[in-house]
Amino acid sequence: MAMIEQLARLAERGGVPDHLELLRESIARFVRTEVLPVEGALPPDARELPKAQVHELRMKAKAAGYWMLQAPRELGGGGLSAFEAAVVGEEIAKHKFAFSSAVFGREPPVALYNGTPEQIDRFIRPAIEHGWETFTAISEATGGSDPARAIRTVARRDGDHYVINGQKMWTTHIENATYGIVYARTDLSAGRRGISAFVVETDTPGIEITQVPVLRNHWSNEVSFNDVRVPAENLVGQEGQGFALAGQWTERGRLFIASFALGVAEASMQLAIAHARDRETFGAPLATRQFVQFAIADADTELAAARWLVWDAAMLYDRNPAAARPAVSAAKAHATEVAFGVVDRMMQIFGGMGVAKEMPLEHWFRDLRVCRVVEGPSEVHKYVVARELLGAVATARPQWPPV
Ligand SMILES: Cc1cc2nc3c(=O)[nH]c(=O)nc-3n(C[C@H](O)[C@H](O)[C@H](O)COP(=O)(O)OP(=O)(O)OC[C@H]3O[C@@H](n4cnc5c(N)ncnc54)[C@H](O)[C@@H]3O)c2cc1C
Repeated sequence: MAMIEQLARLAERGGVPDHLELLRESIARFVRTEVLPVEGALPPDARELPKAQVHELRMKAKAAGYWMLQAPRELGGGGLSAFEAAVVGEEIAKHKFAFSSAVFGREPPVALYNGTPEQIDRFIRPAIEHGWETFTAISEATGGSDPARAIRTVARRDGDHYVINGQKMWTTHIENATYGIVYARTDLSAGRRGISAFVVETDTPGIEITQVPVLRNHWSNEVSFNDVRVPAENLVGQEGQGFALAGQWTERGRLFIASFALGVAEASMQLAIAHARDRETFGAPLATRQFVQFAIADADTELAAARWLVWDAAMLYDRNPAAARPAVSAAKAHATEVAFGVVDRMMQIFGGMGVAKEMPLEHWFRDLRVCRVVEGPSEVHKYVVARELLGAVATARPQWPPV
């Protein structure tokens, strides 16, 4: 069941306002008429949209009112609810370089929404207005699933500055960023409550960036902070508040990535449907083969089910963000796993062309493989759900000596 039919069913129950359907349709048209032709003209082995064309597309997206739709309206963004963003996120994703190029803008680090008015004026508003690239540096080589324990980077107060030392891993977009948020320990004995967040401008002396090539086309970075001095006013919130700051905005990011995964998988299914109608083997169209019929029927069913899960979690989030975490975890893990499986099976319907670089499928396949790890690996999200269901016993540690 395509998204449009699912939306229509929700609309029958009064769940979808007209403005959302209009926005969804107009973004889908923008992707079809503005973005796909640009991508179609690139050589098959292009790894990303050229910068000049990204800039041009961004200007058009901005002029059309499709800019930073997730960011709060009062800060210059589109102010969409989590549900609205999940619906349009699927359409935004239906092009080859959706995960890397951010034609519709990439939100600044969400922890900064809780910054001081001065921090918001200096860092958030211009990032939203001009589409500045930014980064978030939490993960380290010691671990990303459980950063509260893994973070070794420290920030020591020195007069009216903090001095940051340590190494971050997987810091994405820092190579083009104006600034970002770095999570560092300000109190070595306070565990999770000893971690603070700092705005760090990328031209600050002492930052060394080394690219980390990965499976997908847009790579990440290892970053060394060697006596990096940041003004004390760049501390976001209070010392020790680092993780509390991003708060429920983290859940919104996960829902958005889930909707992207579904959009890409839906696009791959539509491509496979057209191909199965057209392509003949052994004297009959592929569409007559039960393997193909089942693959498409299963893909549609799995995507529709995952979509309801994402929408349900998003609607719960909009009503009560504090209660939505397990539902969002279930939705993120399920949608990304389902989307990966769907794209894999649609590639098979294409035979050799499924793995050819001139098709978007192999590119999406690699992006989706990474999606199953970033914004929390699927297993960690399942752990969040299980913890909710099982209660305290799920986190009990074996006692020693045994009693
Ligand atoms: C391409 C890319 C871009 C990234 N961008 C950023 C970025 O911009 N900023 C940033 O801070 N980080 C970023 N990350 C880091 C990402 O968030 C982490 O890789 C992720 O959180 C997992 O951490 P880890 O790699 O250290 O794996 P680990 O924490 O070592 O976990 C390894 C595996 O163990 C399993 N596992 C872990 N805990 C549990 C549990 N409780 N229950 C069951 N299974 C479990 C999971 O399968 C997991 O994949 C990026 C990563 C990649 C690959």
